Amino acid sequence: MTVRNETVLIVEDDTQIRNFIAHTIKQEGFSYQTAGTAQQAMSVLVSSKIDLMLLDLGLPDFDGMEVIEEVRGWSEIPIIVVSARDQDKEKAAALDAGADDYLTKPFSATELMARIRVAIRHLYKTAKTQSQPEISVGELSIDLEKRQVLLKGTPLHVTPMEYNLLSLFFKNIGKVLTTQYILKEIYGVGYGTDTQALRALMAGLRRKIEPIPAKPRYIMTEIGVGYRLVDE
Ligand code: CA
Repeated sequence: MTVRNETVLIVEDDTQIRNFIAHTIKQEGFSYQTAGTAQQAMSVLVSSKIDLMLLDLGLPDFDGMEVIEEVRGWSEIPIIVVSARDQDKEKAAALDAGADDYLTKPFSATELMARIRVAIRHLYKTAKTQSQPEISVGELSIDLEKRQVLLKGTPLHVTPMEYNLLSLFFKNIGKVLTTQYILKEIYGVGYGTDTQALRALMAGLRRKIEPIPAKPRYIMTEIGVGYRLVDE
C-alpha cells in the first residue's frame, strides 16, 4: 500500500456508508476525517488541512448544497458529491454550485476510488497547467500559447469556437462540465439556453477529434448533465 499525503473529509450522516467509505479510502493509503453534519464539516474544514471532500447532500442540519456554496466562498478543494439524489437537474445544480464531481448511491469502492484519483490528479494538474502551455490526453493535445490543437502530433484545423470549447475541457480534465456552465463560458453573459448551438458545436468538434464520433473516446456525454474530457 502506498501511503499518501492527502487527507479526505467524509461528510456523511449514515454510519454504514461512512464506515464503508472510510474503509475504502484507508485501504488506498489516504488519511481521513469524518463529519456527520454540515456544521461538523465546516469546523473540520477550517481547523484541519483537508485535500478533498466527499459530501452527502442529505444532512441532518443543513443541505449539502449549502455546504458547497459556503465552501466555494473561500476554498477551491475538490468536492465530490456522494448522494442518493439521482435526478439530472440535481446533479447539474451541485456541479454548477461548484462541486467537481457527482457519484450516485449505491456505488462501488472501485467507482469511488476512480473519482477520487481523478480529482486528486486534477488538483496537481491545475498547478502544472499554468506553467506548461501544452497539455495532452491520449493522442490529442492543445497548445494554449499558440492556440493550436494537435492530433497525433499533426496540427488540426478547428474554428475559434471549437478551440474555445476544447480549451475549456483541457483546463478541466476529468471534470464534468454542465451544459449551462459551458454555454456561459463559450458564449458569454446573455448566452440564454441555446443548448442546440452547443450540440452542433460539439458534433463538429467530435468529427475532427474523435476516431469514431458516435463512440467518443475523448469527450464523453454525461446524459442530462453535460460533458467530460476523459482523464487517461
Ligand atoms: Ca444522508
